[in-house]
Amino acid sequence: MRKYEVIGLMYTRSCPLACAHCITESSPQVKERMRLQHARTYVQAIARFGSMLCFTGGEPFLYHREVATLIGEAKSFGLETSIVTGAGWVRGESRTRARIAEMVEAGLNDLCISWDQYHEAFSNRERAVMLARIATEAGLSVKVRSVISATRSSEEDHQAFAGLPVELQTNQLVQLGRAESLPASHFLFSDEPPKGVCSVVFSPIVEPDGKVYACCGPSHYSRKPSPLFLGDAAVEPLDDILQRGLNDPILEIIYNLGPYGLYHLLMDEPIGRERFEKRQTYSGICELCLDITGNPELVQVLRERLSGKDAQRLVLASALWRKERDRAKSVPDASQAPCAP
Ligand code: SF4
Ligand code: SF4
Repeated sequence: MRKYEVIGLMYTRSCPLACAHCITESSPQVKERMRLQHARTYVQAIARFGSMLCFTGGEPFLYHREVATLIGEAKSFGLETSIVTGAGWVRGESRTRARIAEMVEAGLNDLCISWDQYHEAFSNRERAVMLARIATEAGLSVKVRSVISATRSSEEDHQAFAGLPVELQTNQLVQLGRAESLPASHFLFSDEPPKGVCSVVFSPIVEPDGKVYACCGPSHYSRKPSPLFLGDAAVEPLDDILQRGLNDPILEIIYNLGPYGLYHLLMDEPIGRERFEKRQTYSGICELCLDITGNPELVQVLRERLSGKDAQRLVLASALWRKERDRAKSVPDASQAPCAP
């Protein structure tokens, strides 16, 4: 059976920080959190459908005991585990060492520290750097992920971690959630529907209320019948929801060709050309993706196109194209989900 590489669990949407670019609008005021009992059930389903479980948020370290328990259970089911953190919980060396030791003992494999100018507005950089140092010393594989904006380069953010054995990553800033209130000068715009594949459309996330989305962050506002809204684990088994995501040809096209692949299919159909509303500017591929998947008429056009006689050949051809592209690295991976592992 085909599996997801990674499935996310948003144990809480609460966070000590309230970053101005936060897609999920997390903050200390948000109190949403998953029930431990529900999370335990989800972990079992995730082990049937994925290889890695990623705790994201919000800030997973706010509920470190519960998360450590879940990491231990995930490990017993054969899952690798990672945590995405904004480091807003870090206070002092010995407390930080104790939290990291707790996670390592539970079986944690990877730590991803989100760090950029928007985090720095709430939390000083020494906390993030200390966390990276302590986590690498404890043997964790550590990534530092920063957004690329028009106002500060990710190199500037990454300089703070120079000399530490961490993997540096970037994401483009997405004009969604709290980031919708940022000045336009923060974004890098293009005039045309953007090209670029999405590697995180098969990295579903289970949110605290049981709702399941195709990617971590940008799809948070998607609703039925958007293919990015996979279902609600409070009303149907998570297994069924995850299986549905794996079988969806629209997600397959997003993965192989990017939202631009969907746009291209729509432009082939008279009704698609007529109903698609082009924006004046795009800050990234997620805007194109959400414009298409959030429009039920366009989704219907795509569903019909992708259930036709040549649909299977089309999806297979897109998968071959993606493989070739991965080999040649000819088209950028424009994934933008900032808290995806
Ligand atoms: S971006 Fe991350 S650290 Fe910042 S408020 Fe959102 S969840 Fe918290
Ligand atoms: S393009 Fe953006 S919104 Fe669409 S699946 Fe990928 S990360 Fe999510």
